[in-house]
Parts: sequence; structure tokens; C-alpha cells
Amino acid sequence: MDLIDQMILTDAHHALRHEVQEFAAEVIAPQVAKMEETSAVDHEVIREVSRRGYIGVTIPRRYGGMGGDHKARTLLIETISSEHGSGAMGAATQASILGLAKILHFGSEEQKQQWLPAIAAGECLPTIATTEPGCGGHVLGMEATAVRDGSDWILNGHKHHVGNSHVADLHGVVVRTGEGSGGLSAFLVPADTPGCYLGEHVPLTGLRGFSAGDVFFEDCRVPASALLGEEGDGLSVALSSSMLYGRANLAAVSCGVHRALLADTKDEVKRRHRYGKPLHEALDSVQQKIGKITSNVMTARQDLYLAVDALDRGMDCDAALANAKLINVELALASARLADGIYGADAHRTDRALQRYVRDSQPIRSPAGTSEIQQRILYKVTMDSYPSSWSVRLADKVAGAELRH
Ligand SMILES: Cc1cc2nc3c(=O)[nH]c(=O)nc-3n(C[C@H](O)[C@H](O)[C@H](O)COP(=O)(O)OP(=O)(O)OC[C@H]3O[C@@H](n4cnc5c(N)ncnc54)[C@H](O)[C@@H]3O)c2cc1C
Repeated sequence: MDLIDQMILTDAHHALRHEVQEFAAEVIAPQVAKMEETSAVDHEVIREVSRRGYIGVTIPRRYGGMGGDHKARTLLIETISSEHGSGAMGAATQASILGLAKILHFGSEEQKQQWLPAIAAGECLPTIATTEPGCGGHVLGMEATAVRDGSDWILNGHKHHVGNSHVADLHGVVVRTGEGSGGLSAFLVPADTPGCYLGEHVPLTGLRGFSAGDVFFEDCRVPASALLGEEGDGLSVALSSSMLYGRANLAAVSCGVHRALLADTKDEVKRRHRYGKPLHEALDSVQQKIGKITSNVMTARQDLYLAVDALDRGMDCDAALANAKLINVELALASARLADGIYGADAHRTDRALQRYVRDSQPIRSPAGTSEIQQRILYKVTMDSYPSSWSVRLADKVAGAELRH
């Protein structure tokens, strides 16, 4: 057990991890080879994840959820993404937990009653659909629109790279309803609404089995009750979800894959022999690399759990969350390069797990802010020009959840 496990996580968290490890080994791991081979969208495993109640990890108990804190959410995603499960299913789990955040933070009581019990019961997988081909991380550059028609809204536009696009039941869509930063609004759109349709599944090089595809809206009519929060809240919905849930979620996927990479590398240097000795005894350079990967994992994981512990305590922690995403992604990529130097040509064999861990680490760099975006936020924090801390503004909604598992 490392220091995070001893100092920050409780017995209830350890029990949750144990349960999720067993679940992942039983339900996820046996399906990985098929997902890798076909690159097809997995529908079954993510449904099973949701039926276990894992998407509802932070949904309060009064709505049927697990009532967990942000450390529980992080641990759950990390464990599903680790060597016991897969990065792809970690990404799928995080995408719908991310999709849940906006309902918790901005939903009316009616919307919470309508959607949270269904999500907690595993009957509804939500998304958040913000990115477009023409705007990427520049949220204000989006062009999809919603226009009033009587009391309804009509949506038109194209959302891109939507996590869980092809398995979701409910899209949380941010679109333009007016000009400027106050001109974005968010809507809850059931995936089977007429006028809402999917593009063809284009697999990523990594995270095979996960879908992050195109969702189109063509004269898609939704009632006034689909509006999330107030008209004009769309930018807040997008940015707060990304900061308060997205950063830690993606860091947790990265952390799980990073740990899997270290575990696999440890086995490899004991198994493989050179100069008549196990590799780690034969070569000082291998010892150095193992030491560096271990340091990377420790640093990244400590950073992540410190950030989510602060979130649980209601502290101002946007900078810590941004840094956790940055550090986890970048150190996992650095470790992947070091592991490549240990495995030699075997690093690229498709019958070895390492190449999957390397491919799975790469796409995690983009969502919830690329590394450059995190650095931009940290620059602003240092220069006292970071405008608003979501962890402070929404503290009453994010802090204080208690894991009673
Ligand atoms: C696995 C995965 C899951 C995803 N899930 C979702 C999801 O659920 N919902 C959703 O809406 N989207 C999702 N996305 C999309 C993701 O949010 C975008 O990829 C991200 O916003 C970046 O957009 P982009 O890829 O178009 O890159 P761009 O924004 O075009 O950026 C390209 C490059 O320019 C740099 N750059 C851009 N702007 C700046 C700046 N201001 N300062 C410094 N550098 C900058 C970036 O760092 C990057 O290196 C997902 C993507 C992936 C890969």
C-alpha cells in the first residue's frame, strides 16, 4: 500500500477498490482481446459497469446512487483502467460519470428526479457533447445552435469526439442560443429523439472498444424542460463539468493505465534474461528506468488524490485538478517511452500488453483540456488572472459527499 492508500483513503474506499478489482477481472479483462482485435464499440461491458451502479458513484443516496465522494469516483475509474480491467472501459466509465456532473450541478429537482435514479440503476448512460470539428478546446467557437419554436427548442449542429457517443442514452449538449460567452445553453437530449443521429464509428488507435464519435442534430426538437439550468448557462456547464469532474476522471484513467504499465514492466524485467541474469539484475540502465517509472507513478497518483481530497473538502482546488490532469497524462507518456526502452522490439508486439498501455495513454491527453490548456490555466493562476474557481463557485454542490458503501 502506498501513502495515499494509508493516509487519504479509508476502509470504505479499500473495500470499493477490492470489489471493483474483482468485477474488472471477471467482467472486463476477458473481453479485452476481442475489443483489441475488432476495435468495435463495446455495448455489453459498459452496460454491466452501469448496472453495478458505478456510473452513479457520486449520485446522492436519495436518488438511488452510491453517495460516494470524489476519491471514490477517482479510485473506481483508476481501478477499472488498471491491469485488472482496461483503459477503454475506464474511459467509457469516466465519460458517463462526466456526463452526470452537469445534472448534479445544474439540474432542476424535476430533472434530477427524472434522470439520476435511471443513471444510478444503470438504465441510462449520459454524455457531455461540447466539442465540434471547428472549435475543439475553444468552446466559445462552437456553431451548433438551438432556436426557440413556441415553448420547444430546435437543435442543429455536429458534435465531435463525444465520449460514449455510440452507447449513450442521454446526450448533454451545449449549443449556441445567442451571442458571446452568455450565448451558450445546455440541453438534455435523449439519444432516440428524432433528428439526433450518430456518425459511423471510427475507432481510435488506443482505447479500443470505447466510442468517442460524431453526434448530429438535424431539426431536433426538444421541450423547454430539456434546458439545463438557465438559458445562457452553457459555458458554465461545459467548463465546470470539465474542471470538477473531467480533469480528475481523465487523470484517473491515465493513472490506472500507468500503474498497469509499471506492473507489466516489473514482470517483464524479472521474466526476461540477459547475460545469464534477470534483466533488472543484468543492466543498471534498466534499474534506472524502473526507478524513474516508479517515481512517475508515485508523483502522478499523489497529485491526483491530493486534488480530489481537496475537492471533497470544499477547498479551492482548480489549479490542483488542472495539474493532476497534466502530470498524470505527461508522466504516463514519459513512462511509456522508458518502458519501450526496456522491452526492446517486444514493446511493439500485439500479443503483449505494453503496446496497448502505450496506445491507451495517448488519447487521454486531449479531453478535459490538453496539456497546453492545463499549463495555460496554471500560468493564469500564477499571474493572478484565473477568473473564477469552479471548486469555490460550486463548493456547496461538490463538497461533503460521504462514501457509505
Ligand atoms: C478519448 C477522448 C474523449 C473525449 N471525450 C469528449 C466528450 O465526452 N465530450 C466532448 O465534447 N469532447 C470530448 N473529446 C474531445 C476533446 O475534448 C477535444 O479533443 C479537446 O477539447 C481538444 O480539442 P481538439 O482535439 O480539437 O484540439 P484543438 O483544440 O484544436 O487543439 C489542437 C492543439 O492546439 C493546442 N491549443 C489549442 N488551443 C490552445 C490554447 N488556447 N493555448 C495553447 N494551446 C492550444 C492544443 O493543446 C492542441 O495541442 C474527447 C476526446 C478524446 C480523444
